[in-house]
Amino acid sequence: MSDVRRSRATATVLRTIGGTYEVETPDGEVVAATLRGRLKLEQRTGDRVVAGDRVELARQSDGSWTIESVAPRTSMLARRAPRGGRGARVIIANVDQVVVVFAAAQPEPRLRMLDRFLVLASANALPAIIVVNKVDLVERAELTARCGPYAAAGCPLCCTSVTDGAGIDELRERLCGRESVLTGPSGVGKSSLLNAVQPGLGLRIGEVSKAVNKGRHTTVAAQLIPLECGGYVADTPGLRELGLWGIDKDELREHFPEFLPLRDSCRFGNRCTHTHEPDCAVRAAVEAGEVDRERYDSYVALMQGE
Ligand code: GDP
Repeated sequence: MSDVRRSRATATVLRTIGGTYEVETPDGEVVAATLRGRLKLEQRTGDRVVAGDRVELARQSDGSWTIESVAPRTSMLARRAPRGGRGARVIIANVDQVVVVFAAAQPEPRLRMLDRFLVLASANALPAIIVVNKVDLVERAELTARCGPYAAAGCPLCCTSVTDGAGIDELRERLCGRESVLTGPSGVGKSSLLNAVQPGLGLRIGEVSKAVNKGRHTTVAAQLIPLECGGYVADTPGLRELGLWGIDKDELREHFPEFLPLRDSCRFGNRCTHTHEPDCAVRAAVEAGEVDRERYDSYVALMQGE
């Protein structure tokens, strides 16, 4: 063992490529590493080493690097196995937040998709922030009307424009020092925003997505891109296509925070699905204009598997 140089468990896995791992060492060097034999056996439970994992590296006498151990995860984004399947498939580890990017216009925001992303974050117990980009294209009043329901649902909003620079400093501040999963439909300005935050960053994310989309199957492989100001932006190219990642319908209502304070007032309490039961406080609140109808309609659509 004397010829093996060890690092502490502060190296970060940036991505996996076949059986090797691209790992950032504590001093910022990126090296290729393989899993040590014992760890490989442990991985048979299906819980693989993934991007975002903090690992301990060792330098072997032949100069190669091995991953010796994996630190416990503080959080993760996982795709649950389909009903009946075992366990969850972890896509990325130690995520601090999910950043959902939408455009105020061009393309028109698709609120159903936004709600899906928010449910996904909530189901993984991850905080979400919504970035509304291209705010230069709409009137302030329209923007406020659109964003109101999300602010009411307790989700932080960051309004940005790459064109006039609005909100870029705030976005950079929210990204620095954290590991953020960035998602949103194409064309909303994700690459442009990242380039505005750090020159060249959008390009690197774009390359990953392009490479993955060229493959015959969409994969859910993730990659972390280090930020100069500290932290990482993560791209999970399969995220957009994956719908709800196996979230149970029985659980769905828990991920609409504005429903939660009302459920004790439903005649069927916790068992109320807020879709058809008599004396449902959520439906009453929608009728009274106290819960946003669009958000409620998203919920119903998701319950119906749309
Ligand atoms: P992505 O697919 O989400 O990465 O989107 P892109 O970054 O490629 O941007 C899509 C288009 O929107 C490009 O033509 C950008 O120039 C444009 N765009 C990006 N941000 C803004 C913005 O804040 N305002 C306006 N008006 N256009 C933008």
